[in-house]
Amino acid sequence: MNNISINKKPTVLLVDDMTTNLLLLNDLLKEEYEVKVAKNGKKAIEIALGDNQVDLILLDIMMPKMDGYEVCKVLKNNDQTKNIPIIFVTAKDGEEDEEYGLNLGAIDYITKPFKKTIVKLRVRNHIELKLKSDILEELSMYDGLTHIPNRRYFDEMFDRRYKDAMRQNEDLTIVMIDIDFFKLYNDNYGHGKGDEALRKVAMALKDTLKRPSDFIARYGGEEFIAIINNLPQNNIPIVANELLNAVKNLNIEHLYSKVQNKITISLGIFHKTKDLNIEKDKILASADELLYKAKNSGRDRFCSNSEA
Ligand code: GH3
Ligand code: MG
Ligand code: MG
Repeated sequence: MNNISINKKPTVLLVDDMTTNLLLLNDLLKEEYEVKVAKNGKKAIEIALGDNQVDLILLDIMMPKMDGYEVCKVLKNNDQTKNIPIIFVTAKDGEEDEEYGLNLGAIDYITKPFKKTIVKLRVRNHIELKLKSDILEELSMYDGLTHIPNRRYFDEMFDRRYKDAMRQNEDLTIVMIDIDFFKLYNDNYGHGKGDEALRKVAMALKDTLKRPSDFIARYGGEEFIAIINNLPQNNIPIVANELLNAVKNLNIEHLYSKVQNKITISLGIFHKTKDLNIEKDKILASADELLYKAKNSGRDRFCSNSEA
């Protein structure tokens, strides 16, 4: 997700326990695609979960240890890999085999021996669809102005993180962020400069929250929201000051601000400790209240519920 790249060749992962099959398919596809190969299910899952995006998987069914059906089940059950289309390429040509495979979520089923040109064309069609659905996903989950996740993506992510934190008794920190006197910025410098400032602030916040599990979204007009997992209470002021400074260090002149002569932000930080049983909406409402408090006590600062 969010890996759309126009110049890069799409990646196809070939999974088969027979080297000859891998070589044959590799020959067929290597010109148009970046081809990766796996000789067993375990390796296939490892590659699919890896850092490099896989756009399509050609998956053999009969393999020792873990068969293709199992691999398909695992991949379709994982949020990170469930959207990768899978085509079974197999000698199992029974109607019930094909039905079973398609029911597991595979997008297509090709029986061996196959016709090379047909495989090539089917791969091309499925890749085209995959790339289009990536674009739709990007449009529906990311904010068009700042290119960070949008509110809808936040809602989904927060729901997931909240449930995980409750189930596993983990800490969860929500940071609500709002630019100070941004209306005055827009009114005086114009909407175009306002948009530019929003983009810069979004990038500064994103660059500050660097851990892979950190999540930051545009929550509304000039409001952002971050989810931080397992942040020790003592570190809350550290992270808060990093965020405040990251925006200040952009040095975006704002002579109409009443706190500084540059753009600043205010933060409301709600920290849910391990054992605190609290409703999801209450977390957001509390973070919002804390933000309000930060605004009312002078802006360019954070307020948090944690006494650390
Ligand atoms: P406070 O310090 O209390 O937060 O004051 P504020 O002026 O930042 O808050 P207010 O909510 O009154 O105004 C927010 C302004 O943000 C309104 C609008 O001009 C601006 N804004 C919201 N969304 C966008 C956007 O997408 N682009 C631009 N350029 N401005 C936006
Ligand atoms: Mg504001
Ligand atoms: Mg606001």
